[in-house]
Amino acid sequence: MSSSSVKDAQTLDKNGQEIKSVGFQRFGFDCEVSLDSLRSLYLRSHYVVSASESQVQELDAKEEGHGHLTQGPNAYQSKSIFHPETQSISYTTLSRFAPVKLLPPSSRKRILVTGGAGFVGSHLVDRLMLLGHEVTVLDNFFTGSKTTVSHWVGHPNFELVRHDVVEPFMIECDQIYHLACPASPPHYQFNAVKTIKTSFMGTLNMLGLAKRTKARFLISSTSEVYGDPEVHPQPEDYWGHVNPIGPRACYDEGKRVAETLTYGFHNQDGVDVRVARIFNTYGPRMNPHDGRVVSNFIVQALRGEDMTVYGDGKQTRSFQYIHDLIDGLIALMNSDESRPVNIGNGDEFTIGEFAELVREIVEKVQAEDGVKLERRVQIVYKPIPTDDPQKRRPDTTRAKNSLQWQPRWSVRMGLEEMVRYYKAKMSEGSM
Ligand code: NAD
Ligand code: UDP
Repeated sequence: MSSSSVKDAQTLDKNGQEIKSVGFQRFGFDCEVSLDSLRSLYLRSHYVVSASESQVQELDAKEEGHGHLTQGPNAYQSKSIFHPETQSISYTTLSRFAPVKLLPPSSRKRILVTGGAGFVGSHLVDRLMLLGHEVTVLDNFFTGSKTTVSHWVGHPNFELVRHDVVEPFMIECDQIYHLACPASPPHYQFNAVKTIKTSFMGTLNMLGLAKRTKARFLISSTSEVYGDPEVHPQPEDYWGHVNPIGPRACYDEGKRVAETLTYGFHNQDGVDVRVARIFNTYGPRMNPHDGRVVSNFIVQALRGEDMTVYGDGKQTRSFQYIHDLIDGLIALMNSDESRPVNIGNGDEFTIGEFAELVREIVEKVQAEDGVKLERRVQIVYKPIPTDDPQKRRPDTTRAKNSLQWQPRWSVRMGLEEMVRYYKAKMSEGSM
């Protein structure tokens, strides 16, 4: 299949319906944007379905002011050109930004996103920017990168600040999404003490800011608060099973104390809080070297290297696509639900099965792009890391009832898009 026929491939949701937009209208906050506008910010143009000029004019007539593209997606991408002979890369910055919704001042929010240059943060920033809000990103670039948000630098609604959340920060804002914290086991274990400091002091500082500004505060907590769970699937009222001194404790206990702190400010000081317990999420812009399973498997399969399954591969995880997570985070922020809410996809795989699925999807995408594989990549087994949870699957009843939120993306659809994203990064030399 040529790249032009890739354009014709539809993106279908779990029920076989075509996905044309993400987000939805909830709690008076419209968060819907077209999938094409969003994709144009992270996927190379030949994989993005582009509207013809006449279609665009038709759309313009119908949906005045909505954040869709008015030029081909190519016009909204920064360019990087790799020069193999000198092993160098040249960048061009954008002179034009993707169109953002023009909101009346009464609906425009000033939103702070800590960790906004990371994987989850950068997708949240894209969505909030396209929706027309004013966004400030606070990041120390430990695991994030300026390149994830560089397409917004210079936009009047956007500000990027290099700052470590363990230090206090002053700003006027209406909503705080507090995401800053390394999330992959190799990264959060790299400096365990710093991870605990980030979780505790970073959350303390951001809650202090929320208290002063009366901003609503959302923290990205994690399924790791359930540790190696003895209850399956995990509902929010399960207290967890965490080793407090193991190698994962800096993250697990850090997030647990961050939640305790959050409810401390809520109960003592009336801070308006939201707690999202995020389950394994994957998608474009995941740092390919951060050691998490989805990025490891895709990169290994694309490079023709052995895929490394840790342990016997019988441990399970359930994987959620990034756009579903962003829908859930925005819905939670704007809802009245102040209890913790699990946000994840219930499709559970053993890691062994998952390796096979990734290999099959990489082979499919390569075949569609006309790439002939020299050999089938092998799946090899390596020792399992200490305290690796044996099973994990969210009970998302609360998210369904309180937010009317359910994941839409099948794991397969999300993986196909992520494979295309990494392929494009490899071919442009930036990975
Ligand atoms: P990421 O590592 O890609 O992003 C984290 C961002 O925080 C990076 O940009 C990093 O530079 C920044 N950061 C780290 N320490 C900081 C500090 N002290 N000061 C300022 N910035 C700092 O990880 P991610 O996957 O995007 O995760 C984002 C949030 O979501 C984290 O809080 C994580 O715990 C949570 N989460 C993610 C997942 C997932 O599967 N991706 C699952 C559960 C929870
Ligand atoms: N894993 C694996 N191979 C890898 C990376 C991870 O088999 O190359 C396993 C890991 O041991 C765990 C699961 O995949 O059982 C998910 O790991 P990840 O680091 O992505 O997230 P977490 O353990 O925090 O859920």
